[in-house]
Amino acid sequence: MHKRKEEEKASVQYSLFFIQRFKGKVLFNVPMAEYTSLKIGGPADVMAFPQDEGDLKDIVAFAESKGFPFYILGGGTNLLVRDGGIRGIIINMSEGFKEVLWQEEGKAVAGAGIKLSELLAQCRDRGLSGLEFAAGIPGTLGGAVTMNAGAYGAEMKDIVEGVEVIGKKGQKTFIPANEIGFAYRRTELPKGSIVIRAHMGFKKAEPEEIKERIKDFRERRKTTSAVTIPNAGSIFKNPEGNYAGRLIEEAGLKGERAGDAEVSEVHANYIVNKGHARAKDVLSLMALIRDKVYSRTGIVLEPEIKVVGED
Ligand SMILES: Cc1cc2nc3c(=O)[nH]c(=O)nc-3n(C[C@H](O)[C@H](O)[C@H](O)COP(=O)(O)OP(=O)(O)OC[C@H]3O[C@@H](n4cnc5c(N)ncnc54)[C@H](O)[C@@H]3O)c2cc1C
Repeated sequence: MHKRKEEEKASVQYSLFFIQRFKGKVLFNVPMAEYTSLKIGGPADVMAFPQDEGDLKDIVAFAESKGFPFYILGGGTNLLVRDGGIRGIIINMSEGFKEVLWQEEGKAVAGAGIKLSELLAQCRDRGLSGLEFAAGIPGTLGGAVTMNAGAYGAEMKDIVEGVEVIGKKGQKTFIPANEIGFAYRRTELPKGSIVIRAHMGFKKAEPEEIKERIKDFRERRKTTSAVTIPNAGSIFKNPEGNYAGRLIEEAGLKGERAGDAEVSEVHANYIVNKGHARAKDVLSLMALIRDKVYSRTGIVLEPEIKVVGED
């Protein structure tokens, strides 16, 4: 009873703040399954969609003053949210921060909320090369920079020259590429940093040549793009000199199931949601995969997806 009163109070506090100051949309008790490509995840207390820097600074300051945790969401395409959901505020970057400022000599400053596919289309139309590897990678630019998304030997690190971030105390800073800590599918941005814009450099190329390269990258993704059931892309990182998918397949785990979660029959490093899979199903499949691969090969698979929230 007491707990419920506390929750109601917190909810009223959230509401008052957002109604008075916030320009973007604010939702309460939001099923995260609707905001992740795996279609899995319990409710988030609050989801706010900042429209601009003012909104973003306001939420961060509000969260800081109340001691509420916050979590940044892009397209939710690299995310497993646990079944108990997320306490605190989800800052959904996918509706604001979409502008792209094109500068001289193939430089661009783009908002974190723009879809990677949209940015790629703009690059292609302008005859700017460098992002072709992203053909077929879903999600936002902010998520791609934060994850150092990549494919077939190319990655965001190759084009990003720096990022504008809002820090956890609401302060805005520019972090140059050499301080972002780019590594294989991760970065080392200071904890709580919200990427709001990325500064990038592209090379001039003939649009036809760029189209060809995009086609080539799409061709290489033929197997994974045949996975049409909800998923979050590769579940595990490729270990040095090997492929997680190959190791999982060799362990005989294709088609292995836990509830409605299944190791994809098409690509073994994908787990698909065949209907009503829960996060606990995905997590138990992940544990099984790690155990089996380790006992066969001595290789420890590291998750590529981010796992967040409460059980
Ligand atoms: C079918 C499919 C294919 C895929 N193929 C690839 C691939 O080839 N290569 C690859 O690298 N990935 C791939 N992925 C994974 C995923 O698409 C990428 O990691 C993508 O860049 C994540 O972007 P997002 O906006 O969805 O991020 P989210 O999943 O929303 O977030 C990912 C992480 O980034 C953080 N984050 C997001 N936005 C921001 C921001 N603005 N500021 C600070 N932190 C932020 C989140 O807090 C979270 O920790 C694939 C996924 C799917 C579903």
